[in-house]
Amino acid sequence: MESKRTYRSKLLYKKALNSIAGGVASRARGLPGGYTPYPIYIERAKGSKIYDVDGNEYIDYLLACGPVFVGHAREEIVEFVKSEIEKGVCYGLPYELEIKVAEKVIKHVPCVEKVGFGNSGSEVVQMALRLARAYTGRDKVIKFEGHYHGWIDNINISTFPSLDDAGPEFKPHSVPASLGIPRSVTQDLVILPWNNMSVLENTINKYKDEIAAVITEPYMGNGGIIPPEKGYLETLRDLTEKNGIVLIFDEVITGFRLALGGAQEFFNIKPDLWTTAKALGGSFPIAMYGGKTEIMDLITQQKVAHAGTFNANRVGIAAAYATLNFLERENGAVYKHVYDIGNKLIAGIRDMIKRFNMEAIVQGVAPMFQIYFTKLEKIRNYREACTADFNIFYEFWKLLLERGILIRPRNFSQFYISASHTQEDVDKTLSAMEDCFKKMKRKSII
Ligand code: PMP
Repeated sequence: MESKRTYRSKLLYKKALNSIAGGVASRARGLPGGYTPYPIYIERAKGSKIYDVDGNEYIDYLLACGPVFVGHAREEIVEFVKSEIEKGVCYGLPYELEIKVAEKVIKHVPCVEKVGFGNSGSEVVQMALRLARAYTGRDKVIKFEGHYHGWIDNINISTFPSLDDAGPEFKPHSVPASLGIPRSVTQDLVILPWNNMSVLENTINKYKDEIAAVITEPYMGNGGIIPPEKGYLETLRDLTEKNGIVLIFDEVITGFRLALGGAQEFFNIKPDLWTTAKALGGSFPIAMYGGKTEIMDLITQQKVAHAGTFNANRVGIAAAYATLNFLERENGAVYKHVYDIGNKLIAGIRDMIKRFNMEAIVQGVAPMFQIYFTKLEKIRNYREACTADFNIFYEFWKLLLERGILIRPRNFSQFYISASHTQEDVDKTLSAMEDCFKKMKRKSII
């Protein structure tokens, strides 16, 4: 990364390292996230643009790793939150607006009959796992290699395992993502490769009486962007239903993004439980879980405990209410816009891949997609994603950054599109990419 144009970021990072462990508030923003030698520091953001402390402007496709689906600082949402928090932010008691948000979500998300609240994706995943275990009286959970469901010990397992530790392809080891995660929790997870129907079927047949839940991202947004193979989610739904296993769709990324009803509307498949966060709050922190009444009523019956001081605070609830109002408008006009912008970008990139004769593919859907530098025709799971060239992607990221386009530096992430991106952004982005690819060709990087 060229240091002259990001000099103040460099200084701030150096300063931060003295007081903040790792220099940043989440590993995704620092060196482990690929931001070498330092991340850029942000001054402000508006619409599809983000500005760093050195005065550089970027078209933002990072979108805070997902929450900024409506665009940065959308006025009607910010104004509504401001006016609501004048009434106080949290009370330790319920209030009416949280019911209105619950009702809207139930209306839009097909599997959801009752909901609960939290503040982050990691938290609400915990509630879904607890409910599934309580409902079935079983402990084991099937989790897929490369899927990320938050940073909490019992599920931050085999998220991005090193291939040296990951074990056999069809019977992966259960690998803790960090020191400090007790080995004992790995025993409750059965790790499987995603998108492999026969491995799934054999495993469910073998362990069906022990398995409480299968948790999956319905459209993988970790490990890059990886779609389910044709029929895979249907098979998953079938097998879980037949065997009394709870199917959890973790829609922290896909919720309110692929459609108002999330991936379950997009694919027309209803899980038993659902989690979401990111896009729901229009950049503000709020998360929700929900699903079938029969399972959710374990909370009503006081068999399953749920708590949280900041659950359904007015900041998140007001933001979700205003965001849902915005997303509901004009029969899904926002989605039409996002799909139009994203599809134009995808088509433009695919055209360049052909013209530059590159070994690369674009995977995903308009609101979230990724470029892999690979010889493969498609990437179907984590291990295939690992074969794509990280170094080429990193060069691409650096060149894009210098040209005012912000994405994450690792191909295990994605381009996110917001309601604020414009045709002008598309044109500028494609022309910056063309410039990058020309340079990469000249230097024989691609
Ligand atoms: N589930 C999925 C699918 C995610 O992508 C993430 C975060 N990227 C989480 C859960 C955890 O969410 P949070 O960072 O809000 O805790």
